[in-house]
Amino acid sequence: MHRRLPSLTLPKKADSEILLPPVAADEILQNNSLIQQLTVTAKDTALLLGVIMRTREEPSSTEITSYAPFSLFPSPVPKKLFTQAFEVQQDFNLLVDRISQDHEFLTKALASTIEVDEFTASLFSIYKQVLQEGIAQPITLGINRSDYMFDNRHDHIISLKQIEINTIAAGYAGLAARIPDVHRHILNFWGKPDEAAKILSNNAAKGIVDGITKAWQMYGSSEAVVLFLIEKVSRNIFDQRCLEMELWHKNIRVIRRETEDIHERGTLDDHKRLFVDGYEVAVAYFRTGYSPEDYHSEECWEARLLIERSKAIKCPDIATHLVGTKKVQQELSRTGVIEKYLTDCPKAAERIRATFAGQYSIDEGPEGDEMIAMAIGDPEGFVLKPQREGGGNNIFGEELRQLLGNIKDGPKRSAYILMDRIKPQVVKNYLLQPGKALQLSECVVELGVFGVYIRKCQKMFMNECPGHLLRTKSTEFADGGVSAGVAVLDTPYLI
Ligand code: ADP
Ligand code: MG
Repeated sequence: MHRRLPSLTLPKKADSEILLPPVAADEILQNNSLIQQLTVTAKDTALLLGVIMRTREEPSSTEITSYAPFSLFPSPVPKKLFTQAFEVQQDFNLLVDRISQDHEFLTKALASTIEVDEFTASLFSIYKQVLQEGIAQPITLGINRSDYMFDNRHDHIISLKQIEINTIAAGYAGLAARIPDVHRHILNFWGKPDEAAKILSNNAAKGIVDGITKAWQMYGSSEAVVLFLIEKVSRNIFDQRCLEMELWHKNIRVIRRETEDIHERGTLDDHKRLFVDGYEVAVAYFRTGYSPEDYHSEECWEARLLIERSKAIKCPDIATHLVGTKKVQQELSRTGVIEKYLTDCPKAAERIRATFAGQYSIDEGPEGDEMIAMAIGDPEGFVLKPQREGGGNNIFGEELRQLLGNIKDGPKRSAYILMDRIKPQVVKNYLLQPGKALQLSECVVELGVFGVYIRKCQKMFMNECPGHLLRTKSTEFADGGVSAGVAVLDTPYLI
């Protein structure tokens, strides 16, 4: 029997200021039989179109896979803020690249951190060593992702606020490029072709591949390969495969190796060319190397050093990696700092600064003491961030208050920075996550915008903003990404 599907309503704000998906009124969201139909179709479509991920239970299996977590509906995103995030990305590319060349700034910014944070100290010592030896490769390839939330703290004026910028292993461009087709199909299946037509395409993966390709060409050896540095276990392997396949289509060979492989079988020749298993490496693209677990033995650190000393084009180089630390981002937010790096383009500095939320040093001294006292007095107003990447490391609320109380009288506090806590706009959606029951959730979205650039000596050869990533998570979780099983892939529906 043909059943009529419920009809369309425009996006609307519920009493509680919660935004609904673009084509769903509250009663539609509660319509179990409709949601079931859409869900079955959505999951099959995701599998069909390659929005997939290895499972938590069998993370290394080549036999078993599932859909990557995603939202049933595209989530509403204010067009103005989406545009703003795209318009500022090339400015961020330029800023990150310029900071990466300022040895004095990086040294000063990280001085207190490396006293107490062993991981950052190890990265910094590689940085110092390659600087002393002289940088072997004047070309650098940057692939970053600037993440934002839509801040709703101030009287219903929703503004774009940066959470962080990721300068190493910024992932999900491959899957993000495929998810729009899933959401288009869900809307079409539901009989909403007009809304389906409004779903944006996403060129993030293509832009990243173009960047890697251009860097590979500039390296100038048709026999050389692109090296993907990977983790031992990577549930998100298909996201990497999306990029890898595109490179193969362009007749560029990709080799995938773990850091330990480089230690065992990587060598530099007299010209500092990097060879691995007989292949000369043109571009070393890191999809690992951002957390202490990625360096579980001394050999891993030696491998990182070997790559950094080589003539291979690094993505990122160690300096650019360090620009992505939370501490550097906090130092950049100080009055007048970014302006100094963008004197040739004051508008760029303005655009960047408009996206900054308050960030504060809590190093020993009166400035830090004052901030600690403030945060202890208002723990919900701040986030405490250590120098870690990958989600799940930040400290909120009561835990923040307690930790600050414990560390406030010693140098350990320099391992952290404080940031104003964003109160993001809340949306409703169904989050489809393998093995989890389907339920309507109140969620927050986080918009990531990818930047790709290439510099040789002082000249920029590419500066692009090819695409985006939208991730959505239940308000139950303050922190955690897609890999952590908290956030899901989403598509912005511009309103
Ligand atoms: P990571 O490098 O671990 O991804 P992030 O700075 O991106 O660190 O923070 C991880 C998560 O913590 C974010 O996805 C967001 O959910 C939450 N978060 C971080 N900073 C803030 C903030 N200032 N306000 C509210 N939530 C935040
Ligand atoms: Mg993050």
